[in-house]
Amino acid sequence: MTIKQALRQAIETLTSNRFEEAHLEAELLLRHLLGIGRAELHLRLEDSLPPEQTPELDRLIRRRLSHEPMAYITGHKEFFGLDLIVTADTLIPRPETELLVEKALELAGNRTSPTIADVGTGCGAIAIAMAVHLPQAKVYAFDISTAALEVAALNCERHRVTERVHLLQGDLLQGDLASNIPARIKAGDKPPRYDLILANLPYVSDRQMRGLCDDVRLFEPALALSGGPDGLQQISRLLAQARDKLHPGGAILLEISPEQRTGVVELAGRHLPGDNVKVYPDLSGHDRVIVMESKADKNLAIAPGEGA
Ligand code: GLN
Repeated sequence: MTIKQALRQAIETLTSNRFEEAHLEAELLLRHLLGIGRAELHLRLEDSLPPEQTPELDRLIRRRLSHEPMAYITGHKEFFGLDLIVTADTLIPRPETELLVEKALELAGNRTSPTIADVGTGCGAIAIAMAVHLPQAKVYAFDISTAALEVAALNCERHRVTERVHLLQGDLLQGDLASNIPARIKAGDKPPRYDLILANLPYVSDRQMRGLCDDVRLFEPALALSGGPDGLQQISRLLAQARDKLHPGGAILLEISPEQRTGVVELAGRHLPGDNVKVYPDLSGHDRVIVMESKADKNLAIAPGEGA
């Protein structure tokens, strides 16, 4: 069988199972199987597919037919123009999270060497995008999952930002939870304060988690998605931790689910009184990123004992 025939068969199988992007996905599966780029695939269409690769291609197609996301099958996902490694231990970066990076870059623009935290970094998408675009920035990327931090470490190496992205295992902003994590993950002490605290925390509510079906999220780690009864559990905990971890004039940027807008604005008012709060919609028009900017002259520490 030629590569062209294998491609045609894969397209037919995916199309007859109602995969809307059958053509693109079939190409990606073949490219992944053969370890080649798009141009090379097209040059080699008349070559024969090595017979031992046919069962492997069938396995890849079966995985896709079970609705496993393409990113997990190929092990890659593009985010903010960067090719990132992803595994089933990490959330798959979404295009809407690029809005958070854009807003963070705008805010960081007027600082020469900003100190940035990315809380719940997963595969490192936000942290690495910031580090790549701000060569003077120091980034501290936290995650509770060792497996996710391992993936983030690979992505840091891939994009040559290992020196400036410090990976820390911890519960939100509290780093250094475990002592048995691989050495390369524990890099440096965390600073007392940040200019920007960024996070795409788990924010899917329990009700939404129960309703997931035929969805990318069924394959993703619940740890990275599930935000408790109203989805705000981790966001609320982070805001309580973050209030005295921000430089005056610094900002917190969070990705949210559109229906959480009122709840998160209320939490911001409680934990960060006096901050300038703005919510931005994603390209589909859904409220997606909340920005809480503190006043430059304000002492952020508020009365202890308040909040979650
Ligand atoms: N954006 C994801 C979704 O599909 C959720 C990610 C998260 O919980 N942070 O809803």
